[in-house]
Amino acid sequence: MNEAFDDDAPLHPDTIAVREALPRSAWGEHSEALFLTSSFVQPDAAGAAARFAGDEGGFIYSRFSNPTVASMERRLAALEGTEAALGTASGMGAITLIMLALLKAGDHVVCSRSVFGATLKLVGAEFAKFGVEASFVPQTDVAAWRAAIRPGRTRLLFAESPTNPLTEVCDIAALAELAHDAGALLAVDNCFCSPALQRPAEFGADLVVHSGTKYLDGQGRVIAGAVCGSRELIEGRLLPMQRSAGITLSPFNAWVVLKGLETLGLRMRAHCANALELARWLQREPAVARVHFPGLESHPQHALAMHQQSGQGGAVLSFEVAAADAAGARARAFAVIDATRLCSITANLGDTKTTITHPASTSHGRLGEEQRAAAGITQGLLRIAVGLEHVGDLQRDLARGLRAPT
Ligand SMILES: *Cc1c(COP(=O)(O)O)cnc(C)c1O
Repeated sequence: MNEAFDDDAPLHPDTIAVREALPRSAWGEHSEALFLTSSFVQPDAAGAAARFAGDEGGFIYSRFSNPTVASMERRLAALEGTEAALGTASGMGAITLIMLALLKAGDHVVCSRSVFGATLKLVGAEFAKFGVEASFVPQTDVAAWRAAIRPGRTRLLFAESPTNPLTEVCDIAALAELAHDAGALLAVDNCFCSPALQRPAEFGADLVVHSGTKYLDGQGRVIAGAVCGSRELIEGRLLPMQRSAGITLSPFNAWVVLKGLETLGLRMRAHCANALELARWLQREPAVARVHFPGLESHPQHALAMHQQSGQGGAVLSFEVAAADAAGARARAFAVIDATRLCSITANLGDTKTTITHPASTSHGRLGEEQRAAAGITQGLLRIAVGLEHVGDLQRDLARGLRAPT
């Protein structure tokens, strides 16, 4: 923090989000500078030697570290309440880095079966090539997580909460306890909530994963990622692998995320308010059979979500259109999408712009019909990542398709 307070009371997250950064450079720039440089000039030969040996702080090369990236990392770590953070090229880069750094052949991972599709593929298929085994368990069934642990071999539990598109919420504290009893670590993908709502480390998670591409940027501009955790894990174990593997965040993308973080709290409050109002409205629409949103009292983990997410439901919701059969449901869902004029037909989320998707034919399109049914992804399911447009306009946009004669 540039300006220290004279008492020890912690600063509010909204203040941290605006102020936490490296000190200003000699030029006194007010907005944090964008350091577009691949390398850094060393003071002299002995200084270079000391920095390369790690005996002295200071920047060397932007694959290792960069002042703009470091400011983003400091700000995000402060918001997550962790000692340290590392920026990575993408959210998937963050998960790859964790697995490369912490796992070896013969190790075992327990992972929620409802995590992001690319995470499923990375954990289940890509790392199997290197002899890392994985078990996939139902997101909300703590007993299944416990039963899947292989004593002495399970090194990592991986969860995401809430999940996409059904917004299932896992009990982070219960999973942390399971992991620690087994001598394993818990990593939580906090993409859907961001630290403005949920700080998994407070509930015992060892590592917090971010796709900065989503709410941290907040305006759909860059691909970015990060991992937050203790200094021991981040600097001791992940950083050496990051330097070797080059899973580095570009300074430009770090700068966009750094500035995005300044409005994170404000944006998340507005996103959540819009989403709750839209979810309640959808519940009243006759053409809607079911709404999945943690902010609704009808959500099966509503109480847990409110406890973990600062009393907020987040801004991603899904709903099922009513229909007699699967073909009718699909036709109705497509008609709702095609009747929109505002909602963007794109799978991204965490943007100021509202997006709408049909999971069964896009994000979950490669699953067999049976797998899809097991995962609860029906043909009538639509996912909405609620943006910052006026909610009345979003309702009008969806009503056009929902209220059309069938
Ligand atoms: C988008 C996303 C990712 C992957 O992030 P990228 O930045 O696209 O690599 C991981 N987890 C969740 C929950 C996501 O939504």
